[in-house]
Amino acid sequence: MVYLLHYFSSLHHAQHYLGYSQGVRDDHQQRIRKHANGTSGAHLPQAFYRQGIPFVIARTWWEGDRTVERKLKNLKNARLLCPICRVASLKSKAAYMKVWRSRRKVPAG
Ligand SMILES: [Zn+2]
Repeated sequence: MVYLLHYFSSLHHAQHYLGYSQGVRDDHQQRIRKHANGTSGAHLPQAFYRQGIPFVIARTWWEGDRTVERKLKNLKNARLLCPICRVASLKSKAAYMKVWRSRRKVPAG
């Protein structure tokens, strides 16, 4: 399984961790739990753990293997893969458009 962790605050410009876990459901849960308590051995989740920044599992690719993980990592933009960030950016875009439209209603001069 390939999974994407979304952290609630960014650290050194990173806010996501893309990982891979092998095995059955219990193995995946174990792996995620280790990220949560800083014992997974993966550098980034450990750094987040030390800062006390929590995460949610933003997305999973159940059929994903190492090749999928590599491909997704090569995109170098986990934000685009993250449904949480996508909703946030749509919301801020909507807010921006609202302001922009209301400004247009103000008569010039
Ligand atoms: Zn995200």
